[in-house]
Amino acid sequence: KGLLDRAERLKRLNVFVHLDPDRVLSAARDADARRKAGEPLGPLAGVPVAIKDVLCVQGEPTTCGSRMLRNFRPPYDATVIARLRDAGAILFGKTNMDEFAMGSSTENSAYGPTLNPWDESRIPGGSSGGSAAAVAADLAPLSLGSDTGGSIRQPAAVCGIVGLKPTYGRVSRYGLIAFASSLDQIGPFAHDLADTALLMNVLSGRDPKDSTSVDSPVPDYAATLDTPPESLRIGIAREFFGEGLDPEVEASVREAIRVYERAGATIKDVSLPTSKVGVAAYYIVAPAECSSNLARYDGTIYGHRAEDFSPKYPGEEDIAPLVRMMMVSRAEGFGPEVKRRIMLGTFALSAGYADQFYNKALKVRRLIRNDFDAAFKDVDVILGPTSPTPAFRLGERTDDPLAMYLSDIYTITANLAGIPGLSVPCGLTKSGLPIGLQLLAPAFAEEKLLRTARVFE
Ligand code: GLN
Repeated sequence: KGLLDRAERLKRLNVFVHLDPDRVLSAARDADARRKAGEPLGPLAGVPVAIKDVLCVQGEPTTCGSRMLRNFRPPYDATVIARLRDAGAILFGKTNMDEFAMGSSTENSAYGPTLNPWDESRIPGGSSGGSAAAVAADLAPLSLGSDTGGSIRQPAAVCGIVGLKPTYGRVSRYGLIAFASSLDQIGPFAHDLADTALLMNVLSGRDPKDSTSVDSPVPDYAATLDTPPESLRIGIAREFFGEGLDPEVEASVREAIRVYERAGATIKDVSLPTSKVGVAAYYIVAPAECSSNLARYDGTIYGHRAEDFSPKYPGEEDIAPLVRMMMVSRAEGFGPEVKRRIMLGTFALSAGYADQFYNKALKVRRLIRNDFDAAFKDVDVILGPTSPTPAFRLGERTDDPLAMYLSDIYTITANLAGIPGLSVPCGLTKSGLPIGLQLLAPAFAEEKLLRTARVFE
């Protein structure tokens, strides 16, 4: 009840696209009744968890930040939602996001931007900006996001909280509305590592409904968190400290390195030479997959359907009415960034250009993975900044897609390589904006990542 009142008071932040107080209260009453009846309690019994609106919750609006899905209510729960329910959690609203998770500021939402609780003239990061702001503003102790190129870690960094992108395959994507299926992962936001570990225990593991989820044992992340890692060799990649890095962010991350040194860590230089073309490769691979995944929104089965698709321009009479219906539905339903990606992706995949763009990007992707494999022969984790700058001002980058894309220069390579990445708060700028530190580890080494971060926390 207190959180619902707080959500009402902080409505101006525009954190939730959907929050049903009656549902929340009845879930809370049920949880209380189970506790009083002495039923065994799940690890998240009674804990409110805010959910990025890209995840299907049965019977509840799931819009993906898009007009296209304004009236969509999925007939099923995503696997992570089912797991949260089994763990006793209370689903606390659907959070705002960039449309179909495309963006770094939550300004691409059809439902207006979310404001950063630290400074309401600034962006909360994106695309999971609503989920990060929910935790940062104490509207929920935990939330779920999705990360295709940085959408958990970057908002966590600029909102001063913890965010973890798990290894590709660690968490089931069943019921996650697809953006770029080979890059998407669901992960937790929390105030600290203990809460992050607890939520990871609930989310992780093989799911027969997602053939890319991996059947490898899930450690008890919460139980081992306080055991210092056996080996603390930290890699510093020159490529993560290049041009465009804000000096205050750099100073804060360098200070974190000194903290590790004092804790006895060995600091080593590593090289990730291909990462300089990471953003370029990502903006071929992600739009290519998006153009294919978003082909399903054509107004026929679900999503927005145009009411008026009569011919308006010369020549349109020649287009079959069904095709016109699809064209107009898509034109009305999608926002400008989504359209840009669909066009980019369709082009990159088209006959005659696929070798030059898409297939080339896949080769770069392999080289990026090779860079990480080589680096992890010498070090346990790689440390650097999460985002090159603290939260920027609303509107500052909306007219400049390239500037927006560069928000993810340090996060994108982890998705291309499939490895886990964690952002933890590491300081504040002079003007009081949060700064995040990113730690990267080999595939399925989330446990190591959390324990290494704990040394710093
Ligand atoms: N900002 C990146 C993009 O726009 C990453 C988004 C994400 O991780 N979902 O694609």
